[in-house]
Amino acid sequence: MYRSHNCGELRMDHVGQTVTLSGWVQKSRDLGGLTFVDLRDRYGITQLVFNMDENQVLTEKARKLGREFVVRAEGQVRERSSKNANRATGNIEIDVKDLQILNASKTPPFTIEEDTDGGEDLRMKYRYLDLRRGPLQRNLMFRSKLAVETRKYLSDVGFIEVETPNLIKSTPEGARDFVVPSRMNPGEFYALPQSPQTFKQILMVGGFDKYFQIVKCFRDEDLRADRQPEFTQIDCEMSFVTRDQILDTFEGLTKYLFKQMLDTELPDFPKMSYDEAMERYGSDKPDTRFGMEFTDMTETVKGKGFGVFDSAEFIAGICAEGIAESYSNKDLKQLTEWLQRPQIGCKGLVYAKLNNDGTIKSTVGKFYSDDDLKLWAEKMGGKSGDILLLLCGEKEKTQKQLNELRLEMGRRLGLMDPKVFNPLWVVDFPLLEWDEESERFHAMHHPFTSPKTEDIDRMMTGDHETMKALRADAYDLVINGVEIGGGSVRIHDRDLQSKNFDLLGFTKEEAEAQFGFLLGAFEYGAPPHGGIAFGFDRLNAVMNGQNSIRDFIAFPKNTSGRDMMIDAPSPVDNEQLDELYLSLQEIEKSGA
Ligand code: ASP
Repeated sequence: MYRSHNCGELRMDHVGQTVTLSGWVQKSRDLGGLTFVDLRDRYGITQLVFNMDENQVLTEKARKLGREFVVRAEGQVRERSSKNANRATGNIEIDVKDLQILNASKTPPFTIEEDTDGGEDLRMKYRYLDLRRGPLQRNLMFRSKLAVETRKYLSDVGFIEVETPNLIKSTPEGARDFVVPSRMNPGEFYALPQSPQTFKQILMVGGFDKYFQIVKCFRDEDLRADRQPEFTQIDCEMSFVTRDQILDTFEGLTKYLFKQMLDTELPDFPKMSYDEAMERYGSDKPDTRFGMEFTDMTETVKGKGFGVFDSAEFIAGICAEGIAESYSNKDLKQLTEWLQRPQIGCKGLVYAKLNNDGTIKSTVGKFYSDDDLKLWAEKMGGKSGDILLLLCGEKEKTQKQLNELRLEMGRRLGLMDPKVFNPLWVVDFPLLEWDEESERFHAMHHPFTSPKTEDIDRMMTGDHETMKALRADAYDLVINGVEIGGGSVRIHDRDLQSKNFDLLGFTKEEAEAQFGFLLGAFEYGAPPHGGIAFGFDRLNAVMNGQNSIRDFIAFPKNTSGRDMMIDAPSPVDNEQLDELYLSLQEIEKSGA
């Protein structure tokens, strides 16, 4: 027998019992005649004690144990003389009578503790060691439970889990596809799904009514802390439902998950239109844990001879509360430089300090009288002790920049409480986005999203400008500034879907070749339907107040898309290429 108990289990009640534990050596200490070894498994850490006076051979053996050796120890549970209140097993220790080394270990390249000294690539290369650390163990256990609870909730309300294929044809979600060559079909390729979008819609046509799947999706995009080339979604679709019924269902799921996992009762989720989110926060995923909302100052500040403002399309500001005294000119200069970095690209920052003594100091004091500046303060809700921060330029760009500034000030001023969760639905997104460069419309969500009912007629008959103003029945679930999920009511009418493909620049032939199966299905009684997908990795991270999804994925890829442990991607030999018709010679021979 390897163990009678695990390393997190023993308490004062067990004192006097003979037990067997197995695990990894976290660390060992020699104190005169006594040797202490911390033995670790995924349940916790238990202290083993060896006494030189009582058993010299055994204690010498214990002294030779290195970090991460795997051992089995048998002994008696006894009360500790110096207790460790920070550890669940901290009241007891094991007086070891027998020690067996099950496996030795090389010295690990980084410390296997709560905090490690290992850099990211090193930790990924030795993922099996990193996975032994407490934070990763807890993250993956959290993830496992989150999946269980998701399945519980959704199946309780009638959803059926259905698997959809991974070797498919491109499903456009706005990223590049990963492609897989087909040996049996020379010169032809599968695409890995960017999402199961078309399949879940086909399942609705197939009568399944309520579908879900916890599913891998693949997108060949540049990576960031919250993006991986393969990631997991909770993917869902429903038939015969209105938008609000869909939102209610998934608000229910989200509230249930927060309650089960964190014992947190979420408030009802407010709905905010895309336009309102952009006006108030300059972002379609606003962090609503704090205020500092935008004030449009365009009309207020023009016409006083300050050329930069006078020539700007849009001027807006935020009010940073209570920092007039603590923020020096040097801090403001540094903030301006932060805004001028190419990632943000501001030309400059205009500010007005509302000093506690009633005076106002502004970078543009030359052009604006005290009364003018008082009017600014009034408009922006500023009071003594606050600083007004204004940016200007082309509207969309300025909104984006001011959003960055707002978030940065939120971070600097500690306004983003990690214990607070502020969910909301952002609704009524634009249907189409005009891309100047390619001179084409792109689907803001994806090509299967329905326009709002009241916009359907305009979509079928309207001109180019009309198309820009169409609203979609699309929605995002946002929590603390992170897009947790997104979805839409779908088009279920063949003509409307054809029109949408047409607007997106697909010829009839292209649409038929790529999505003929869906258009075909729509001719056989497609029910009205809609759905959503949650980013499962992100949901895990946000619920744990973290930005990066990497430590919620057992085997993630680094920012270059590499798996450092198995060293993928990697070259394949010529024979394999030949077999897949990927060498030029073979493609020519096959006539494809
Ligand atoms: N397929 C969509 C996505 O991956 C979600 C949806 O519309 O249900 O974002």
